[in-house]
Amino acid sequence: MNQTASISDVPIETCAAPQQEIGERAVFCGLTSIIWLHRKIQDAFFLVVGSRTCAHLIQSAAGVMIFAEPRFATAVLQERDLAGLADCHEEIDRVVAQVLERRPQLRNLFLVSSCPSEVIKLDLENAAARLNQQYGGRIRFFDYSGSGIETTFTQGEDSCLRRLVPHLPQDDSAEPRLLVAGTLPDIVEDQFLRLFDELGIGPVDFLPARSLDDLPPVGRQTHVVLAQPYLGDTARALIGRGASLVKAPYPLGAEGTLEWLRAAARTFAISDDHFAQVTAAPLARARHAIALQRKRLEGKRIAFLPDSQLELPLARFLKRECGAELLELGTPYFDRQTLTAELELLPQDTRIVEGQALNSQLDRVRAAQPDLTVCGLGIANPLEAEGLRTKWSIELMFSPIQGFEQAGDLTELFCRPLVRNERLAV
Ligand code: SF4
Repeated sequence: MNQTASISDVPIETCAAPQQEIGERAVFCGLTSIIWLHRKIQDAFFLVVGSRTCAHLIQSAAGVMIFAEPRFATAVLQERDLAGLADCHEEIDRVVAQVLERRPQLRNLFLVSSCPSEVIKLDLENAAARLNQQYGGRIRFFDYSGSGIETTFTQGEDSCLRRLVPHLPQDDSAEPRLLVAGTLPDIVEDQFLRLFDELGIGPVDFLPARSLDDLPPVGRQTHVVLAQPYLGDTARALIGRGASLVKAPYPLGAEGTLEWLRAAARTFAISDDHFAQVTAAPLARARHAIALQRKRLEGKRIAFLPDSQLELPLARFLKRECGAELLELGTPYFDRQTLTAELELLPQDTRIVEGQALNSQLDRVRAAQPDLTVCGLGIANPLEAEGLRTKWSIELMFSPIQGFEQAGDLTELFCRPLVRNERLAV
């Protein structure tokens, strides 16, 4: 967790455009994204260069979720490193050699910077370049920032993918391709691949792919559709390589998935009739799965505290497909380039607040007494103790929630705390 302190008591007025708030923050840092990135990219190792705090975070957050030998570790900076008395690069070389000795089959290694390594200005980009030379291409080294300085935890993925963009092969062919950017669970990726195939859209690539050997090509004929809303820097880097960004909402819920696929289909000039034919059955299944549980969420007052950057698409799903009432919709960052399509689907009077001033936001939550507050892990428990029902937003990062077939599970994730509340009611 990181916290920065300053004070803002600016009252928030209802408005369509996001308002900004600055103050205390309570979010996980980008190292957290290693949990889903290392599960997705199955031939990469993540070496965090950080402090004991970073090691504890990774160990406790990710350690419990794996049963095989982990593909992540922390090179712990000692006091002498932090004081500038030791050559950190020698230490990195030593730890890297240790990792490779233990895992001789390893072919890709990410050096991940943290708050401490960034504060002492340890240059991991240079370290990666040096190691690439040293190992003569036998092992590929990349670097990215996982620090929590002014960032939220999903930005770890954005930083990782953005750093991969310069390594993507150049595609100069005239054939259009679709590139889906953003980590998706394998099961969801497979479902989307089948749908794209039935629609006649292809070739389709994913970033990240399951193997770093399959880095997707990019060029002027690449159409990028984002699967995750927090990839603003990655999207800009891909545009910088000549790709174009498809404007679309995110594939959450029946409607979000339908419109996300439709945006891709229009880009590839797929006819409306064919699109309707291919999507009819999975769309009906998704709508049915949501309808089974909708009554639990209908009319429920839901607040979002800023955390994962998934807040806008989730709120749109809860409002439009589940009939919930939106109270304050907090988001750590609002990137117009990646969120315009979502903003257009939200009611005009939605109160969106960008940034965080934790104490004022908690005061407003306590005053409003929502039926459900979607928030970070560290805030949820105190709110539960006060009698408010909460949903951990980080849980939504670890669950397959995208696509038609997962629309019912997504609905259920929000119903669960409400059902528990009913069961516990005296
Ligand atoms: Fe804490 Fe920063 Fe390390 Fe994250 S990167 S665990 S915020 S010190």
